[in-house]
Amino acid sequence: MDVADKMSRERRDRRPEPIPFQYVWFQPELVRPGEETSMGPEDRTVVQLLAELKVEVPFGVETGRISGSAVANPQVPTEAQNALSRSQKYFAQSGTVQVTITRDQMEALRRIGAPGKDVEVMRSFKNDQNVTFSKHCPGCQRWIHLGGAEREGQCFCGQNYRVVFDLTPENWSLPKEMRCMDCGDELSISLGGSGPKPWHAINGHQMQCAACAKKQLADQASESPPRTRSR
Ligand SMILES: [Zn+2]
Ligand SMILES: [Zn+2]
Repeated sequence: MDVADKMSRERRDRRPEPIPFQYVWFQPELVRPGEETSMGPEDRTVVQLLAELKVEVPFGVETGRISGSAVANPQVPTEAQNALSRSQKYFAQSGTVQVTITRDQMEALRRIGAPGKDVEVMRSFKNDQNVTFSKHCPGCQRWIHLGGAEREGQCFCGQNYRVVFDLTPENWSLPKEMRCMDCGDELSISLGGSGPKPWHAINGHQMQCAACAKKQLADQASESPPRTRSR
């Protein structure tokens, strides 16, 4: 036995034992005859989707990927669950209903004007008493006044949002009226107090009470000296 042969033998002996019978079985996806022609949930048009969502326009239709835990619903039979996980991992949501959709359908909805993933939707509802509501910004938790008209806006923090009036059923537990964006004090309460307490308009739908404005100024003043020193 020459040296080269000996070395190659040693190398071979040092190799880990191959694990026998370790096969990964790929199940081919079979398309049953007639399946492509039948109208499945994947084939819904955007018009049909809007009808299912009970909205006329896609302005307030949130879409996105369904998280893993939501798909693995033990109530759903395994076969249906497999079909679901293959093709329908996305949702579309209005103020009334949520439906499961495909990625293509999500993209189609966004193409016709549904908000993209960088836009948060905040829902309110119209009422005869003309009561308006406020909600926390999903980005920074500051308060935003939802007001009385559907619109697009941007929070003080830069978060883009849309206000939609399709909340069903009506949720009267939502905090009412315009509030200080920082502390959440109702505007009307502070205006009723004694003496001038000027509120600061930050933008069309966010205000800051006098106390929070003062606090912000103080915070900025205490923060700025070290910032200018450390260069
Ligand atoms: Zn914000
Ligand atoms: Zn405040």
